[in-house]
Amino acid sequence: MMAFLTTASLFILTAGAVASPQLLMLSGVGPAAHLRELGIPVVHDLPGVGQNMRDHPNVQVRVRLKEGVPEDDIARRAVRLRYTATGSTTPNDMIISPTSLNTVYASGEDPSYSISVGLYLAVGAGELRLTSTDPYVQPSMDYRYLENPWDRQRLREGVRLCARLLEDPAYKEIVDRRVAPTDADLASDEALDRWLLQNVATSYHISGTCKMGPASDPMAVVDQFCRVHGRTRLRVADASIMPDVVRANTHVTTIMIAERCADFIKQGC
Ligand SMILES: Cc1cc2nc3c(=O)[nH]c(=O)nc-3n(C[C@H](O)[C@H](O)[C@H](O)COP(=O)(O)OP(=O)(O)OC[C@H]3O[C@@H](n4cnc5c(N)ncnc54)[C@H](O)[C@@H]3O)c2cc1C
Repeated sequence: MMAFLTTASLFILTAGAVASPQLLMLSGVGPAAHLRELGIPVVHDLPGVGQNMRDHPNVQVRVRLKEGVPEDDIARRAVRLRYTATGSTTPNDMIISPTSLNTVYASGEDPSYSISVGLYLAVGAGELRLTSTDPYVQPSMDYRYLENPWDRQRLREGVRLCARLLEDPAYKEIVDRRVAPTDADLASDEALDRWLLQNVATSYHISGTCKMGPASDPMAVVDQFCRVHGRTRLRVADASIMPDVVRANTHVTTIMIAERCADFIKQGC
């Protein structure tokens, strides 16, 4: 998508969940105190810009294959299992995916097969802040993964589920052994939390940094028609406006956001 579309009376920002809040803040639209720290003149104080940074945290349960099991020559993820964590009120909040990543990890002793465990409705949220007034300098991104105990509990359960799956006779034919987490990592919640915090990674599904919401929500950045609160000629139409990350990969939802925004403009909303 283009980053900035403009007609005489309308600007549409579609730079994605990292660059859209960055560009808004560089333009003086964002948390006033933060903008002043960097000497940026405040055009409109919007505390939610760059906050509520969502993603799908994931970890890889890594396995070594038995001698003679052929390795795929491309990265692949053919099947995925969605399930609801024990005690969860948000159905299908978890996803596990057997994965061959030998094009990514194939180096020496590092095993290339894994089962990825993804927390697809994490309650934790991070923060994106400017580090410079130079638009070519990346903003800082603090994901704050797994700070929330409920997020850690669900991811622990997912990892233990994968360890159990690997004990299944079907896997026994091809898997030599689980490499990570080790049995010691699985021995207690505390040990597993340490392993999770050392290994948690992004799913590249960053969203929520200019979230949609009513004007009564001080952290809302755009209204229900994608218009920036207080700057109604400016709209944002990308993954940044999701109030929360969706429980699926984010590409298709982002396309629908753009389609809906186009409809709103055509309808004069
Ligand atoms: C490695 C990776 C793998 C992914 N895999 C999947 C997947 O398998 N399935 C899935 O559903 N989702 C996937 N995603 C997520 C998906 O790509 C994003 O959710 C989606 O692209 C978000 O769309 P967007 O329009 O918000 O942002 P983007 O697609 O990032 O579009 C923003 C555009 O703005 C441009 N831009 C930014 N700043 C400027 C500037 N200052 N000037 C000019 N142009 C600018 C960027 O170059 C970019 O083209 C993946 C993401 C990554 C990074």
